[in-house]
Amino acid sequence: MTEIKKETKMEKVKDLVCGMTIDPRTAAATSEYEGQTYYFCARGCKVSFDKDPEKYTKGEKETKHEH
Ligand SMILES: [Zn+2]
Repeated sequence: MTEIKKETKMEKVKDLVCGMTIDPRTAAATSEYEGQTYYFCARGCKVSFDKDPEKYTKGEKETKHEH
């Protein structure tokens, strides 16, 4: 049996803290900043975001991977 999973219908968002792509419906935490809602894979990511949201929203334009 072959099972094909299609995820094209699911709208995904990026967790700006860790760079992970997540489904907003299953996001562990959300945060609002400058009228926009941001989604996070874990509460820890939200905490990091809330500490310094500017750092993460600014870094959105860059394609930099940090761990
Ligand atoms: Zn995360």
